[in-house]
Amino acid sequence: MGTTVAMAASNQERSFIMVKPEGVQRALVGEVIKRFEQRGFKLVGLKVLVPSKDIANVHYGEHEGKPFFPKLVGHITSGAVVAMVWEGKDIVKTGRAMIGATNPLASAPGTIRGDFAIDLGRNIVHGSDSVDSAQREIALWFSPDELAEYDPTVTPWIYE
Ligand code: UDP
Repeated sequence: MGTTVAMAASNQERSFIMVKPEGVQRALVGEVIKRFEQRGFKLVGLKVLVPSKDIANVHYGEHEGKPFFPKLVGHITSGAVVAMVWEGKDIVKTGRAMIGATNPLASAPGTIRGDFAIDLGRNIVHGSDSVDSAQREIALWFSPDELAEYDPTVTPWIYE
């Protein structure tokens, strides 16, 4: 383990994870970060901001025209969010599993939504639903110089 081994590309999948305004207000930012961190994923980007209407409209663009869209955009722009990029093997799918079902009442205990949320429109956290949407969302929320390049020393203790 003395030499640096190039990390397999499969370990470099990235997902966009965002603590929504209700998660920030309820002081669940640390809880969300803790779960991804202790699982072994690598944090490569993080910032706190109040999203503009423009970024919210693009981020949730797939839902434009649906009845809940105006309320959704209104809510996500109503306060501070914590936007993050996490990296690791199968992070998109695993991140969604850690977050739980969209409707918190259908989310299993042990998931973030299953442990901390009740209503659909207050489900604490967003996670990309595919590798393609992750790439789109990361490019929307972060510029390349906001994403850190570094090698965690624990990598060989997480990946075989
Ligand atoms: N949402 C809502 N009402 C609905 C459906 C969705 O308020 O009827 C919100 C909910 O907070 C959800 C977000 O819109 O997280 C985006 O919906 P999506 O289906 O993309 O769910 P997600 O990917 O967040 O699980």
